[in-house]
Amino acid sequence: MKLKIHTQILMAVLLGILTGYLLGEHAKHLQIVGDLFIRLLKMIIIPLIFATMVSGVVSTGQFGRLGRIGAQTFTYYLITTVLAITVGLVLVNIIAPGIGANPLTEQVFSPTDHQPPTVTSILYDIVPANIFKAMAQGDVLPVIFFSLLLGAALLGVRDKAEPVIVFFKGFDAVMMKLTDWIMRLAPIGVFALIAVMVSRLNKDDIFALAKYMLTVIAGLAVHACIVLPILLRIFAKRNPLTFFRQMFNALVTAFSTDSSAATLPVSMECLEQNAKLPERITSFVMPIGATVNMDGTALYEAVAVMFIAQAYGVEMTFANQVVIALTATLASIGAAAIPSAGLITMVIVLRAVNLPLEGIGMILAVDRILDMCRTTVNVWGDACGAAIIAKLDEKN
Ligand code: ASP
Repeated sequence: MKLKIHTQILMAVLLGILTGYLLGEHAKHLQIVGDLFIRLLKMIIIPLIFATMVSGVVSTGQFGRLGRIGAQTFTYYLITTVLAITVGLVLVNIIAPGIGANPLTEQVFSPTDHQPPTVTSILYDIVPANIFKAMAQGDVLPVIFFSLLLGAALLGVRDKAEPVIVFFKGFDAVMMKLTDWIMRLAPIGVFALIAVMVSRLNKDDIFALAKYMLTVIAGLAVHACIVLPILLRIFAKRNPLTFFRQMFNALVTAFSTDSSAATLPVSMECLEQNAKLPERITSFVMPIGATVNMDGTALYEAVAVMFIAQAYGVEMTFANQVVIALTATLASIGAAAIPSAGLITMVIVLRAVNLPLEGIGMILAVDRILDMCRTTVNVWGDACGAAIIAKLDEKN
């Protein structure tokens, strides 16, 4: 059954590319199909995170274990994000895609319309004043925060809270079933999303920015196909190819939806059903990972900012590049797990090294396609993290 969905999704991607190419702008009529698929996925994100995180925290069994898993998870996020940025910076310095590119002087991108998050606003975003409002608005971070606290409180109360614990376990199983059903529609949704994307590709933009795109894609490829698999092999003792196959549906969903959040239900399903990771790990690592751990976005932001600096002829010293690395880490953490979020938080990095914000206008045209690639790497990074943390947890 699983294999069948794999094959269907692969065919959907190929058929989507062909249809988008043949239909040209008429492919826009397929937009509604893709949108409905994304809406279905989004529909279950909040209840899924709520159910799965509460029952996940409870199944860790003790505060100590929860704390250890948390510390390992955040260490993994930080190390892999820094590794991704390093790969990006090395490549962008070697390839230098921005040298000779035309810097943009007119303002196509207005930063005032896209205010990037500040540290205070991120903190306010994490701690909800009203959890029901946060849920209604689909805000993931406060829901994660509340679910963690609720799970911990259930652990604290234990026996008296038994009925509530049983409820959350059942609720969680039901949400996974719903995800399973929605996944059966994935071939149709993926087909429509890819067809619309292909029909909108503009050859001129791609040629003009080919070197920049290749640098980002090469960086993402090195991180996803070399760095993360090495970590997976060493720390999770898993075969990267097999794990890739197990995560395939989630990776294609990430590629076609541009959103780690929308992909979350599918990633959780792949990890639990195909890779057989314990739920107490996936339910903790994945929702937080989808929201804060974005290796692809961090790498992309570092490369894009260096590209803009090169195009404007501004030299970036080693110290400047360290600032880029630090702020790109923050910007990737602050980026929401939705399409184009990385493009907006890049303002933080540009400001930190005093580069013109108009520079973002130079790369807007090809952002969609790079967003697909970086979102796939974001999800792959979260998945590898879940496998590694699960292995480390086994040893304890
Ligand atoms: N679309 C990305 C994600 O959801 C975020 C970004 O724009 O880089 O992971």
